[in-house]
Amino acid sequence: MNQSDTEILKALVAKRHEVVDSLEESDAVVVNSCAVVGFTERKVLKEIKRLKQAGKRVILTGCLPGANPASAQASGADVVLPLKHIAAINSALDGHLAIEAAPVVKSELPKLRHRDSAIAIVAISEGCLGACSYCATRFARGKLRSFPVNSIVKEVESALEQGYREIQLTSQDTAVYGRDIETTLPELLGEIIDLPYEFRVRVGMMNPTYAREIFDELLDAYSNEKIYKFLHLPVQSGDDEVLRHMRRGYRVADFMELVADFRRRFPESTLSTDVIVGYPTESDESFDKTYRLIEEIKPEILNITRFSPRPGTEAAKLRDIHDWIKKERSRRLTKLMRSIGMERNSRYAGKKLRVLVTKHGKGNTLLARSDAYRQVVLKEGEIGEFRDVKIRKVRPTYLIA
Ligand code: SF4
Repeated sequence: MNQSDTEILKALVAKRHEVVDSLEESDAVVVNSCAVVGFTERKVLKEIKRLKQAGKRVILTGCLPGANPASAQASGADVVLPLKHIAAINSALDGHLAIEAAPVVKSELPKLRHRDSAIAIVAISEGCLGACSYCATRFARGKLRSFPVNSIVKEVESALEQGYREIQLTSQDTAVYGRDIETTLPELLGEIIDLPYEFRVRVGMMNPTYAREIFDELLDAYSNEKIYKFLHLPVQSGDDEVLRHMRRGYRVADFMELVADFRRRFPESTLSTDVIVGYPTESDESFDKTYRLIEEIKPEILNITRFSPRPGTEAAKLRDIHDWIKKERSRRLTKLMRSIGMERNSRYAGKKLRVLVTKHGKGNTLLARSDAYRQVVLKEGEIGEFRDVKIRKVRPTYLIA
């Protein structure tokens, strides 16, 4: 979502100014900040200090102004531009900030995307309906605002016309898309897959609480070959008590039911989930439940975050757990995921797959995605083309073809 905002900021700035890649050449710097955890916020503030010492004019935007206003105001940036006003970036650069009243419809704003990638990020909504106890993102992104179906479809079509072939639909919670404009995510997917091109759609993360209310229709929409069999469903904890404290709105059993339904429908698929380790009320027993849950469902992708108290959140009022405990729990899950990754990928050894080449990899390799959204590394191919390949080697997080 932040990367999509950067593409909007670049396109708007390029209308009036020259966008350069090197800091040395620049007169001013736009910092599109993330504030999801304390470590990241400290990095952002350190960078702003460094830029000011280098004599740059600094515009601070992104999530920090909304997630921690006091910290943003004290950051030393010349202008603090809240996210919902990114359309005013040029007046901020020119020094006379003119805020427009109406919130922007990001799907109608221009984007300056990477040319050397087949991936186009398309934001479908901003904000969510959640009230998770640890989350400051909701302070920055606000309540759910879905962008109109026709403007999203137009944006996807324009990206396809420009040669992009992987459309990443993103928001804080794609499952609640359309609830404020009388439509749904499955309906939106229905419109997008009708576009007359060969392409793939990656559906972004969704909160299990709202995913289960649209799941049957969603799985029907997913049965179209244009939709990657990829589900990003953050569970956050394997302990119902901790989930209740987090105010996530579902139980572990609900999450497991969604996973089982998804895998029954699409045995060849990729499940991505997230866990927070070290939530203040997470005891050793609670963490063991999370560990056993991951052992049981064997996700293909696991994003592990160490709990970080965010200002203004309920969880920040609770006594924090020692860092070494968080590190140890994170280390144990990382180790477990290495063996799960190998086990889940080993069934592809020697298999033939049809993949979409999406971007450049390390050295002179190319990265591609199978229809089950497996990461595949190739030596030959063109960005944006579909290729038939044979899997030669298997690694925990990718395949070599
Ligand atoms: S669903 Fe929860 S974690 Fe996600 S953005 Fe909303 S409040 Fe934050």
